[in-house]
This record gives sequence, C-alpha cells and structure tokens, in this order.
Amino acid sequence: MKFSYKILFCCIITMAAAFGAGGYFFIDDVFRASMERETTQAMDESSILQFAFETAALNIPSKYDILQNSVIEEIGSNLEKGGQGTGRLLRLSDEDRTVLYASEGFVEDTALLCAVEEQTRAYQVTCADDRYFIQTGTMLNSRDRILYLETMRDVTEVYGERSRGFAVYRNMTLLILVFSSVFMYFISSWLTKPIRLLTQATRKMTAGDYSYRAEQVSLDEMGQLTQDFNHMAGVLEENIHKLEEEVRAREDFIAAFSHELKTPLTSIIGYADLLRSRRLDEEKHFLSANYIYTEGKRLEAMSLRLLDIIVSKRRGLELQDADVSLLFGYLKDIYEAQEDIHFVFQYEPGRIPAEIDLLKTVLLNLADNACKASEPGDTVEVSGRKTEEGYLFSVKDYGVGIPEEECQKITEAFYMVDKSRSRSRNGAGLGLALCAELLKLHRSKLMIESTPGKGSCFSFRIPCERGGG
Ligand code: ADP
Repeated sequence: MKFSYKILFCCIITMAAAFGAGGYFFIDDVFRASMERETTQAMDESSILQFAFETAALNIPSKYDILQNSVIEEIGSNLEKGGQGTGRLLRLSDEDRTVLYASEGFVEDTALLCAVEEQTRAYQVTCADDRYFIQTGTMLNSRDRILYLETMRDVTEVYGERSRGFAVYRNMTLLILVFSSVFMYFISSWLTKPIRLLTQATRKMTAGDYSYRAEQVSLDEMGQLTQDFNHMAGVLEENIHKLEEEVRAREDFIAAFSHELKTPLTSIIGYADLLRSRRLDEEKHFLSANYIYTEGKRLEAMSLRLLDIIVSKRRGLELQDADVSLLFGYLKDIYEAQEDIHFVFQYEPGRIPAEIDLLKTVLLNLADNACKASEPGDTVEVSGRKTEEGYLFSVKDYGVGIPEEECQKITEAFYMVDKSRSRSRNGAGLGLALCAELLKLHRSKLMIESTPGKGSCFSFRIPCERGGG
C-alpha cells in the first residue's frame, strides 16, 4: 500500500474514532443531565402528591377513624384528574401492597412497590409499549393506614432526543469524514511528494543516470533528506567517475604494456630464429646478436622501471632532513664529464625533508630525458632555489620540446611523444610515470613548461615542512 494512502487511512480512522467517541460522550452527557432533571421533577411530583393525598385524607369527613378503601380510590381519582393535561399516572396500594387504585396505562410491574420501605422514596426507569417512564414509589401514613403511592412520568421524549442526537451526529460525522478524506488525500500526496521524488531519483541512478538529482520541494526534514541525498549522489558520481577513469587508465596501461612487450620480443624472436636457422656471415651474425642483446636490455630496463613504479606506489616513506648539495654533487659527478651535452649546475644550499635516493632517481630521469631531447653541443641547466612554498628543483633543456597537448599525457605510463625517437634511445615511456609516483610520496608533482623546437623545463617543489608521505 502506498505511504500516502497509509497516512490517509490513519487520519480517517483517528478522526472517525475521535468524532465517534466525542459525540457519544457529549450526547450521553446531555441525556444524563436531562434524565437527572426529569428524575428530580418526578420525585418532586411524588412529594406533592403525597402531601395532597394526606391533606385530602385528613379533610374528608368519615364516620370511621380508619380510611376506607373507597375513600382512597376517590382521592386517587381526584388527584389523577387534578393533573389532567400533564399525563399524570398514579397507583395506590394498601399495606399488603394490594393495588387499590391505578390510572389507566399504569404498568403492572410491582417490583418497585415491593422495594419501597419506610422513609424512602424509590424510583426506576420503566419501559412499556415502546415508551419510557420514571416510576417513583413512596410510603404514605394516613389516618392509621400504611399506603403506597406510585407515580409515572413519561420521559420517552428524552430518549427520543438522545436517539435523534445520535443519528444527527452520525450523519454529520460521515459527511465530515467524506470531505476531510478528500482534503486529506491531497495533503498526504503533498506531504509524500519528496519521497516520490527521492524514489524517482534512486531509480534513475540505479538505471545508470548518475547525474540525476532529486528536486527539493520543502525546507523541513524531508527537504534536508533530499539535500543530503543529492550530496551523497554527488560524492558517489565523483567516485564512480574516478573509478571509471582508473579502470580506463589500467586498461590503457595493460594495452600499452602488451604493446611495449611485443615489439622487442618480436625482434628478439625474429633475430634468434635467423641465427638458429641460417648460417650467417660474421657481420650479420654480430648485428643479429647485438639486436637481441639491445632489445633484451630494453626489456630488462622496462621491467625494472615497472617494478620501481609498483614498489613506490606501495611503499610508505620515511623523510629525512637532507642536504640538497648532496643531490647536486651526485648529478655533477655523473653529467659534468659529458662531452656532447654541456651541463650547467646552479643551486642555493639548503635542507629539505626527503628520501634522498628517491629524489636522485627523479633528477636522473629528468636529466636523462633532457639529454635524449637535446642535440650534441646543447646545454642543459639543472638548478635549485628556495621559495616560500619549498625548495624548487628544475631541469631545463633547449632540445626538441613537447607540444602543449602532450604535456598532460607524458606522465602516463608507456606514453611517448615520438615513439621511434624514444625507442631508439632505449625509452619505454616509464621514466616520467615513475617520477610522478616518487614525487607524490614527497607531496609534490611535476610541472612541465615546454615549447616545441625551443626546449622544455621540468620542475618540482619539495615542501619545507614534514608532512609524511
Ligand atoms: P622514456 O623512457 O621514453 O624517456 P619518459 O616517461 O621519461 O619515458 O618520457 C615520456 C616521453 O616524454 C618521452 O618518450 C619523450 O617523448 C617525452 N619527453 C620527456 N622528457 C622530455 C624532454 N625533456 N624534452 C622532450 N620530450 C621529452
């Protein structure tokens, strides 16, 4: 069952119960008050008749001291006639509770008569021929005789009023319930609108539309829930995109890896087959063997780089307080002696939180790439300076440069701008990917500025304060 219908039915049931119980107690209370009033009047009338009977009995001359039955009947008849128009009914009985006089229509039931005792005035509600009466009974003591006087007061109207009240109230309640049900239907639909919108959004998202958001239609708790849901959907969408990108990158990586593996392997297999199937002259034999050797070396270098990347992704880092002059000294020892490329070193002394061996690998890769991109006689500048945000390293060359659209991609594994040029220089497109991973451990990243034909500058900044890797 729909939630809005549940709200609707709960309201209808509550309203019906409230109206029913409220109406019943109200009408019943009015009825009780009326009955109390009627009972008081019946008792008063009983007292008046008692007084009237005793007075009449005293005033009637009699030759006997004891009141005769015929006299009692006569007084009873006179008292009944005296109340003509009021529907007065009475019954007189002697000391043995034998009826001496009874108005026409007086009930035959003598239960009350038996219950009447001295000094008491009893009453009960009696029903006869679909009419209701308050029957009263009292004891008279007149001229040495004990008599019983009973009266009946018609209260059918009071009961009728109660029945009419119930009927009116029932019809009114039904009418109110019908109208309020229609009204409540719209209210419950309006109240549950945010739930419907959220359900719709959930279904859309389940079907793959992650950008769908639920419309916020209120500022209450439901509105807050919608807001939170949309926020959660935003975070989920972001994470899903990230995951998708990661999967794509992984697939690209595997495709590039298989390709990079296939190229040297094809050459190695081809030349090995040549060597084993034919007798070659010495020069061709040497060239084939050399090809197998260099391609094998390339495979070895590639597998070592890959291993480095995987290890650096998994490892934690212990930063040490390192002296930058150690790094520059190390590079100087390797490159200053180079004859075809002219290396220039310029740096400010300083200390940085770093793992020195990893930074050496980064700078070696950058310097190697600068050499590969340069022509003999070109200059490569390696510099270091302090800035507010940290120590800035840069490796600048005046070589082939990189087109702007490629700068973003060269840190991806196996990406090479000029594949044949890179492969001819033993490259596999893994050096910068490794640098990026190692710099990530130092909370840093590669910044690349390059102009095709003019050269490139690769730089990175090591933050001064230790922040953990
Ligand atoms: P490789 O092992 O091929 O050098 P890298 O990841 O180090 O792999 O570099 C990726 C590609 O970026 C290289 O193939 C090269 O085309 C380009 N590249 C890197 N450094 C430079 C540079 N200083 N000048 C021009 N191109 C560069």
